[in-house]
Amino acid sequence: MKRLALFFALSAFAVAQQPDWARVEEEAMRHFQALLRIDTADPPGNEAPAVEYLKQALEREGIPVKTFALEPHRPNLVARLKGSGKKRPLLIMGHTDVVNVDPKKWRFPSFSATRDGGYVYARGTVDDKDNLTACLMIMLLLKRLNLPLDRDVIFLAESGEEGSVRVGIKYMVENHFSEIEAEYCLAEGGGLTRKGGQVRYASVGTTEKIPYAVRLVATGPAGHGSVPLRTNAIARLSQAVAKVAAWQTPMRMNDTTRAYFERLATLSTPEEAERYNGIVNPAKAAQIQEYFAVHEPRHHSMLRTSISPNMIKAGYRVNVIPSEAEATLDIRAFPTEDMNELLAEMKKVINDPAVEIVRVARDTRPPAAPSAIQNEAFQTIESMVKKHYGVITLPVMQTGATDMAYLRAKGIQCYGIGPATDIEDGPKGFGAHSDQERILESEFQRFVRYHWDAAVGLAKAQ
Ligand SMILES: [Zn+2]
Repeated sequence: MKRLALFFALSAFAVAQQPDWARVEEEAMRHFQALLRIDTADPPGNEAPAVEYLKQALEREGIPVKTFALEPHRPNLVARLKGSGKKRPLLIMGHTDVVNVDPKKWRFPSFSATRDGGYVYARGTVDDKDNLTACLMIMLLLKRLNLPLDRDVIFLAESGEEGSVRVGIKYMVENHFSEIEAEYCLAEGGGLTRKGGQVRYASVGTTEKIPYAVRLVATGPAGHGSVPLRTNAIARLSQAVAKVAAWQTPMRMNDTTRAYFERLATLSTPEEAERYNGIVNPAKAAQIQEYFAVHEPRHHSMLRTSISPNMIKAGYRVNVIPSEAEATLDIRAFPTEDMNELLAEMKKVINDPAVEIVRVARDTRPPAAPSAIQNEAFQTIESMVKKHYGVITLPVMQTGATDMAYLRAKGIQCYGIGPATDIEDGPKGFGAHSDQERILESEFQRFVRYHWDAAVGLAKAQ
């Protein structure tokens, strides 16, 4: 009898642990639209009104909030729900700023959050007010359900992610790290890929390449354009740029990329699978890399430190041989790259004393080891992907940079997650940073539930 009573008590508890999703959907959509309607375009990135909105929503329910600002109109918000302290905290993160818009390109005004045909249209719908709203809902629901936690859950709403990290994650890590220190972090940097309306697989960012910038400067005597010179700086620079562009840096792999290609093979055509499985075979690797370089350039980049010449500057009039010409290279280093070694190698490749290699400052990210894929965090995410979407999870090394790099460099295991989006939507101009931006309402709601389950799975008392 006693045991039976305990059983009922436990199952009642289990029921109470699940939010009333029908009601939550309405509320989540209301917060989502309200946040989307606040213009936080960066630059200038006036995030204060969005932070004020979050602050009120959290404080209304008794969740304590702190804000930290390097610049008063660009604050970061931190809210914390206490756990028993048995485990180290979980950090959930979303950024409040969005990229700029060209209003002429939008069918619905870019900060209107118009609902149409099952979509919500606004800047920030998939980058990153989806994550931001999911984090807010997780905090509100954890508090309401009074769920016992083994670890603190910390919500960080950061400013300046889109190009001004000095006011956002960099500022927080360098000045207020104890406020956000955690064992694990869930943030943007992943998602689910739909193709033909079907969810195909999940991507979870576990590591990323590190951006650097380098300038090639060629010098030579100036002269009259009517008397061509072999030492022409533009000609020397062009040769150097062509050599660097053709240079294939050595192929490298890590746990993330090995698992990525292996798992990608399981959902590919036999022909594709042969390439994804064959990339680890030294006898086939060269040919497969060549195929990637032409047909799947992102995969080619994932296998190495990549170099792309993206700016060139030289000359000022048609009849003058300029004495200087320069090109700027976008280098995306493999996480374990030794930059001094790479540049020494580049010098040999260029093999021209008239061309100098100069390192240039840029908004870079600190190097860090990849987050583990054989731990409770990754496995929890994987099982929640299975539960909500029924598909396989690919760990991904992102070719672009995210704010997670700052946290990984401090030892936090970070995982990039996001909602399901249609692969066809990007080319149509509806993706992150596109002319327009939108999300399927149903996928926004599914993401909130998936994110909730992942956070609860990691934080709730065992
Ligand atoms: Zn973003």
